[in-house]
Amino acid sequence: MTLSPTTIAPLAIHGGAPVRPAWLPYGRQSIEEADIAAVVATLRSDWLTTGPKVDEFEQAFAAYVGTKHAVAYSNGTAALHGACSAAGLGAGDEAITTPMTFCATANAVLYQGAKPVFADVRSDTLNLDPVLAAAKVTPRTKAILPVDFTGNPAQMDAFMALAAEHGLTVIEDAAHAVGAEWQGHRVGSIAHMTTFSFHPVKHLTTAEGGMVTTNDDALATKLRTFRNHGITRDSRQRELAGDWFYEMSELGFNYRLPDIACALGLSQLQRIEANLARRRAIAAQYDAAFASLPQVVSPKILPDANPAWHLYPIQLELDQLSTTRGEIFRALRAENIGVNVHYIPVHLHPYYRQNLGTKPADFPVAESAYARLISLPMFHGMTDQDAADTIAAVRIVVGHYAK
Ligand SMILES: *Cc1c(COP(=O)(O)O)cnc(C)c1O
Repeated sequence: MTLSPTTIAPLAIHGGAPVRPAWLPYGRQSIEEADIAAVVATLRSDWLTTGPKVDEFEQAFAAYVGTKHAVAYSNGTAALHGACSAAGLGAGDEAITTPMTFCATANAVLYQGAKPVFADVRSDTLNLDPVLAAAKVTPRTKAILPVDFTGNPAQMDAFMALAAEHGLTVIEDAAHAVGAEWQGHRVGSIAHMTTFSFHPVKHLTTAEGGMVTTNDDALATKLRTFRNHGITRDSRQRELAGDWFYEMSELGFNYRLPDIACALGLSQLQRIEANLARRRAIAAQYDAAFASLPQVVSPKILPDANPAWHLYPIQLELDQLSTTRGEIFRALRAENIGVNVHYIPVHLHPYYRQNLGTKPADFPVAESAYARLISLPMFHGMTDQDAADTIAAVRIVVGHYAK
């Protein structure tokens, strides 16, 4: 591992040579020969969808997170929609969630005709603050949707206690958090329902895909019916039973995940522990490198949390820098470090401002964090050199603009 250029050379954004010649994305899938073989075998099988690979993937995923049921969905957003439906969210209901997330979390509440009610985040972890969430509970509140921001678990014991007190359903959006743990319990086994995404930037991919896990038999049945048009038996169950009869008992959707995708997910799941270990090692390298940089704040991990490191978001101490977050972002990209920003707080999007009346300054903690956040490259396929290049680029760029 070689350490890249020194602070004397000009930054790439000012015409210097970049820290590395090739672009390093912030996230990337890894596909191995075993994954390809698994997909090909399914393509050659009788079942492309609604077949045995769906059951196998669901059972393996449920066993991995330590829960009774896992229900596959066509993507993480559909999984959230299914969970909101199973929770009984409808017109007139409210669901409390965080503004520091991808818009899909709150959108799923809207799909059900219910109202997302935002509460601000903790300034350290940027996860939904249980105290501020509790203050938003009204007689109309039916659910809480904490998000494990960047793979760092939300305070699930606090949210489960709040839900028990008020009779609410907790839907944990764990799109970032496959394999994370809170108080020694794996994410997916704690909330009433937990949703996952298998988009290629996430820990394990099925191209598009999602999952809902639950320990509750009745919720699992609702989740299965909802993803299949609201029909009580799917085509394979009918074939196995040797008859044609089915009933549509409610309005559902076609949110099924094909067997081809499940075969890929099943194969990817075999490597999840190794991939998590790799992400944790990269995070440790970043933590160690930035501990000595006063302009860079590393993610804060609570003692009860064992994060899955979907992302590694740094926060810039802007009062110790002579430039903006935007300029540092562009300077890092010029160095071929594919930084990103997660997230524009959901309540600031035009749709939310127009339809829910949210506005700037509503959630000051999330907004002030947003102004300082930059996500560094973080994926299990990163090499030590990739991590070293990222660290070198941050040192050079931040060093250049340090006051
Ligand atoms: C990726 C993501 C989703 C949506 O998942 P898709 O599979 O892309 O639909 C939902 N919530 C969060 C926090 C995400 O990062």
